[in-house]
Amino acid sequence: MSNDSPIIYLHEINRTYHQGGNTLTILKQAELAVWAGQLVALVAPSGAGKSTLLHIAGMLEHQDSGEVYINETPTSGLSDAERTRIRRMDIGFIYQAHRLLPEFTAVENVMLPQMVRGLGKLEARTRAAELLAYLGLKDRLTHRPSELSGGEQQRVAIARAVANAPRVLLADEPTGNLDPHTADHVFNALTQLVKATGLAAIIATHNLELAARMDRRVTIRDGVVMEYEDLDRVA
Ligand code: ADP
Repeated sequence: MSNDSPIIYLHEINRTYHQGGNTLTILKQAELAVWAGQLVALVAPSGAGKSTLLHIAGMLEHQDSGEVYINETPTSGLSDAERTRIRRMDIGFIYQAHRLLPEFTAVENVMLPQMVRGLGKLEARTRAAELLAYLGLKDRLTHRPSELSGGEQQRVAIARAVANAPRVLLADEPTGNLDPHTADHVFNALTQLVKATGLAAIIATHNLELAARMDRRVTIRDGVVMEYEDLDRVA
């Protein structure tokens, strides 16, 4: 693969929902390419289609037409098993609420996706402990989610999302539940990780300060993904 190819490329994505006799066009020929080490802020009003775009990018939902390329591989024709494999290996997802398993410790929550992938317990624990230490949680390994602060829970969720060394990181309002100071801290951890590991990250956020610190800002207008710079031009 050449260095010039995007890690993830959404091409001519169309998505409509049919609800009570109405047709809602959410994405219309949407285009978005993200390269390694790049953080893209997805900033758009509620209902604009951010979650829909992230779910399609993460192969959690099917587009009506168009293609999602991951590392230049078109994914729409893949079997469910192959899509699941790519989702497990190449894509990390972070949600607004951490969704950690409450009965497991921090380190166990980060071990689980690795063990689902087939890694041995020892290897999974070593990587989980390294990742949590990297995210400043060296002394929180055996805490359960309820024994962690909001910012710590979200950093565990970040560690879990990248446990299998994915190429793509998708985040839906990852700092939305945090106070500004903690949001800043979690965002710094996220940025450091993206830069260090060459992830391609799409981060939906309402936080304009954080968006300003990312590499690019895009929005969704009438189903079309637009760069902020182009938005200024048509405004
Ligand atoms: P955002 O994340 O930007 O708030 P979403 O992608 O969640 O927006 O939703 C975009 C629009 O699509 C909303 O108007 C929502 O009501 C609608 N929508 C989302 N999912 C469905 C669904 N499964 N069926 C019908 N309409 C949906």
